[in-house]
Amino acid sequence: MQTLATDILILGAGGAGLFAALHAKKANPELDVTIAVKGLLGKCGCTRMVQGGYNVALSPEDSVERHFMDTIEGGGWLNDQELAWLLVETAPKRIRELETELGCFFDRNPDGTVHQKAFAGQTFDRTVHKGDLTGIEIINRLAEQVWRRDVRRIEDHRALDLIFSADELAGVLMLDMRSGEPLLVRARATLLATGGGPTMYRYHTPSGDKSCDGLAMALRAGLPLRDIEMVQFHPTGLLAGEGTRMTGTVLEEGLRGSGGYLTDGQGKRFMFDYDARGERATRDIVSRSIMDRIRKGYASAHGGVYIEMGHLGPERVRREFKGMVERCADCGFDLAASRVEVIPTAHYMMGGVVFSPDCATPLPRLYAAGEDTGGVHGANRLGGNGVANSTVFGGIAGDVMGARTMRAGALPEPDKRAMEAAFERAFTPLGRKPGNLPEMRERLYRIMWDDVGILRTAESLTRAKAALDALAHEIADCGVAADSRRYNLTWMDRLNLENLTLVSRAICAAADFRRDSRGAHFREDYPQTSDLGTSCYTEVRLAEDQPVVASRAVTFSRVRPGKSLLQQEAAIAAG
Ligand SMILES: Cc1cc2nc3c(=O)[nH]c(=O)nc-3n(C[C@H](O)[C@H](O)[C@H](O)COP(=O)(O)OP(=O)(O)OC[C@H]3O[C@@H](n4cnc5c(N)ncnc54)[C@H](O)[C@@H]3O)c2cc1C
Repeated sequence: MQTLATDILILGAGGAGLFAALHAKKANPELDVTIAVKGLLGKCGCTRMVQGGYNVALSPEDSVERHFMDTIEGGGWLNDQELAWLLVETAPKRIRELETELGCFFDRNPDGTVHQKAFAGQTFDRTVHKGDLTGIEIINRLAEQVWRRDVRRIEDHRALDLIFSADELAGVLMLDMRSGEPLLVRARATLLATGGGPTMYRYHTPSGDKSCDGLAMALRAGLPLRDIEMVQFHPTGLLAGEGTRMTGTVLEEGLRGSGGYLTDGQGKRFMFDYDARGERATRDIVSRSIMDRIRKGYASAHGGVYIEMGHLGPERVRREFKGMVERCADCGFDLAASRVEVIPTAHYMMGGVVFSPDCATPLPRLYAAGEDTGGVHGANRLGGNGVANSTVFGGIAGDVMGARTMRAGALPEPDKRAMEAAFERAFTPLGRKPGNLPEMRERLYRIMWDDVGILRTAESLTRAKAALDALAHEIADCGVAADSRRYNLTWMDRLNLENLTLVSRAICAAADFRRDSRGAHFREDYPQTSDLGTSCYTEVRLAEDQPVVASRAVTFSRVRPGKSLLQQEAAIAAG
């Protein structure tokens, strides 16, 4: 088997992976840094798809404390407060770095200050943006900076499994998707930054290259996932019809933030019946309200609801939401002057690998950052805190790995049995009797949407558990025609589906375990939020191939539920 040795291996080239590479190189230019990515660097992942923008407290009337409190309240008090604090405290530094060191241009006010717009669930308009295509600006500038530095890139390579050396990480078994050959990358430190991505739901927003690979690898390696039941649904996914990948893609939050209405099949504006903030309520509330409206029989023509912008003036909508207007026009809809059908769509995973403020995981030599991690957002993520999370923690991971990684000494020796197990899992399906993968994928979408989706019950989760277990067995038995290993997309589908089903089982187990409703997790049989002061988060591990859930008390290290904002601010300021 081909082997590559490197000092730092970064899995994924989104905001987290690219920032980590730049910071690691800056911290220690002598280090050999390798980015391995499932697609093409700069062209894949979700950071590129960021539309709305980046939350950061810049205005003198805003404050880091206020951003922190919005994040904690939005997260249903489940957040790791140290991680959340680091997010909001570092975001101003990171946004300046993006502008002044990396060359991003964000929209500005006439007086030259950075323009910040409204995003739902926040007490201040603090979302920095570049029109409604902010992610392209960020990823293009980051990719350019990585290209001009001495960073090795291995593209169209997917990570298959983490490979141990006794009780630490020795490297990663990769698959060169172009040749179909394995590659063992040995490293002194590895960053998991594959970006989660809830693409197991019928309607979803993330890029097609994401199939929870990092989370599945972490589970197989025995690592705990925190808050994995917390899957965020964006309320306004485009409903463009069946069989098109445009269905599910996001129409961004700023549309509602700037005054867009949601109306049902009878033309009624319904959000104020559910929440005093109307369309500006948080994503979970808006998504649930839409589902309730649909269930009560008030759906739009194709089973969703409508978003209406025309009352704001078509010219203004075209000017402020150019990308959204064009996206809808591509599908034959006029967002600026008419109404467009939407449906909630799976968008983001708040849960992920347990990690600490220095981005270390419980497995020595493995670090994690971005959407692969859990704890920053608690039970719900504020729109605009996602790209802040990936860039803030990607940078920290790069600093830490750069500072801690010494070139001297031998690389950890990969365990032979771990190598064989990883190789066998990925390669044995080749040449075995093929199964009906498209049917299995559709089945997974349906199970997760119907039974582990926006509204959950013990009954639906029990049903889903049995169906997911059965599906996992079928996938394990499912072979793939081996006419050619080169760019074998059926094989990739099979590997994706295996990982998605494993993580779905973890989501289902944690959702069944959590018997209250919070943030993105809503149990119809337990609709109340339990006492915030005794909040617990979940941790799921695999034990003999079964997801096992444990509950851990949240540490209120900075603020406690039930105190006034003034008291909270005083507590935060005191440290
Ligand atoms: C449509 C859309 C709009 C969004 N808008 C906003 C917004 O306005 N504001 C906001 O804050 N957040 C937004 N988000 C969320 C935001 O994109 C994410 O929070 C964040 O960018 C994730 O960064 P990341 O680096 O963790 O992952 P990503 O940017 O998704 O990168 C993951 C990388 O890992 C690679 N990868 C995956 N699997 C493997 C594997 N097995 N081996 C090797 N590489 C692998 C992928 O190819 C990719 O390069 C949006 C998301 C979507 C989908």
